[in-house]
Amino acid sequence: MKRVAVIGGGIGGLTAAGVLARTGHQVTLFEATGVLGGKAGTVSVDGLVFDTGPTVMTMPDTVRATFVELGAEDLMPQLVRLPLQTHYRYADGREFHCWEDLDRAAESAARLHPDDGGGLRAFFADAEQVYRAAGQPYLEAPYQTMMGFMARAARNGLGTLLTGFKLSTLDALAKQHFRGPHLRQFVNRFATYAGASPYEANAAFAMIAHIERAFGVHHVVGGLGALVDALATAAQRNGVEVVLGAKVQHEKRGRGFVVSAREFDAVVVNADPLELQHRSADPLTMSGYVAMFAAPTRLSLPHHTILFAADYPAEFAALAAGRLADELTIHLCHPAATDASMAPAGRSGLYAMVNVPPFRAGEEAAWQTHARTLEAHVRARLLAMVPELAGVPLSLVAERTPVDLANKGAPRGSIYGYLPHGKFGPFRRPSMRGADPGVFFAGGGTHPGGGVPLVMLSGRFAAGLTTAHLGGRS
Ligand SMILES: Cc1cc2nc3c(=O)[nH]c(=O)nc-3n(C[C@H](O)[C@H](O)[C@H](O)COP(=O)(O)OP(=O)(O)OC[C@H]3O[C@@H](n4cnc5c(N)ncnc54)[C@H](O)[C@@H]3O)c2cc1C
Repeated sequence: MKRVAVIGGGIGGLTAAGVLARTGHQVTLFEATGVLGGKAGTVSVDGLVFDTGPTVMTMPDTVRATFVELGAEDLMPQLVRLPLQTHYRYADGREFHCWEDLDRAAESAARLHPDDGGGLRAFFADAEQVYRAAGQPYLEAPYQTMMGFMARAARNGLGTLLTGFKLSTLDALAKQHFRGPHLRQFVNRFATYAGASPYEANAAFAMIAHIERAFGVHHVVGGLGALVDALATAAQRNGVEVVLGAKVQHEKRGRGFVVSAREFDAVVVNADPLELQHRSADPLTMSGYVAMFAAPTRLSLPHHTILFAADYPAEFAALAAGRLADELTIHLCHPAATDASMAPAGRSGLYAMVNVPPFRAGEEAAWQTHARTLEAHVRARLLAMVPELAGVPLSLVAERTPVDLANKGAPRGSIYGYLPHGKFGPFRRPSMRGADPGVFFAGGGTHPGGGVPLVMLSGRFAAGLTTAHLGGRS
């Protein structure tokens, strides 16, 4: 039995710890705050249940495979697949219903522009090819070398591999498929799933659109906190010792490591890797502001709505310049549309998220003012763009700012850490291996990237690399 320290109790750390313990190691997980889950979690206010970070779940097979690897399939929370994945509303009053059913989605697209129905089908065909060319080999195993990745990618055929390398930006791909601005904006939004800009990120991010369509957009019944609780129970059932309120660092000592005055044979770090890998000067992905509102009536909104800003390039230009744009795109999540356990009868909770830049050093205090500005901006846009909310008094019951994210270890509040811009951006993510043999990274800041299912994969990869290092079979 080897001793492994896991530093950080986010989704990646919990997954790595649980898998390592299940493999037979003696695992201690140190979490700096008083709660597990990191950016993922749920709060309850006066009977209303809100996710505070992630709300969109996809890749259910990856989630299930993780619980199987933890020996805890019985603990996996229920996922509900949403037939209407997202309702997009545009500044000019037009709308697009992105149904999982491609025929229905294409009909909705054709109402925006006669060519857009066919464009949508062609776009999703391309997105699938990109997923096969680059996505599958990228997600299949820990990324260690470009040669290893190419060898995996070549199994799908050289032509497919070349497709991946021919691509330029996501925005260029959107322009290839759509004449009108509406569906271009729909495609471009997928870059924000990685905290990136569609005008700089590679078109390979179109694979996220394929993943949502092919594997579904899901809601975790009871909220994301139910997933965190299930992972924590699985880890503890496998024997993981959890130490809360312990902000720790590891130190090399002989052939092993010392963490919090205790000796370990290996360490998995779930904190963002940029600082420990001496890359603090790297550009960062976007941060986010979330406002949580209570409505004294059951709203007739769908589960997910996007209220697009009129000028998307201006929004990303402002983000890149470190400013708040004049008009912000809003992600609205209304979970009571799917799950009665999220709100008592006759009431609704509404989560509204906007992307904002990571803050600069010393700007933390200014966020008290920024939060009020953003709340007012969100309220004004809801009134202007969502007729269902006319006359409904919304009270702000909770919020999350970039400073809250920084308090959970996010560098300057950046949600995904390293910014994967450029053709080879995703290959330059901070490594899963630390400089010292026996140190591995898990979480959204390393391979394969952010988002709950990918972070679970990261935790499993880190556990496998650690076990292999310790001389076991990974
Ligand atoms: C507003 C918002 C919306 C999002 N929406 C979605 C979505 O819809 N779908 C989706 O899939 N993903 C979404 N995400 C992203 C998703 O939440 C993250 O990618 C994922 O939860 C990150 O997990 P992680 O393992 O990297 O750990 P983190 O959540 O980053 O947690 C790391 C943990 O390590 C702890 N820690 C750090 N340093 C130390 C130390 N020195 N000692 C001890 N503990 C330490 C921290 O306190 C924290 O608990 C969203 C995120 C945010 C913030």
